[in-house]
Amino acid sequence: MIYPLIKEKDQIHIVKDSYYCVCGLEFNTEIVIKRKTLRKIKFIELGQVTCEKCVLKLLNQK
Ligand SMILES: [Zn+2]
Repeated sequence: MIYPLIKEKDQIHIVKDSYYCVCGLEFNTEIVIKRKTLRKIKFIELGQVTCEKCVLKLLNQK
């Protein structure tokens, strides 16, 4: 499975929406997401995620 992931604070998180990661980390504080921020989002395999909170939350959603 491919997920939108973002590297923040030396950890790779899963992107939930335009503002937050699945674990609750805010990666975008702007009202409109900037191109610079969008460029940080990569669509890659879930196995690349290093933030345990993101992975646990995703699994609990099922
Ligand atoms: Zn996270």
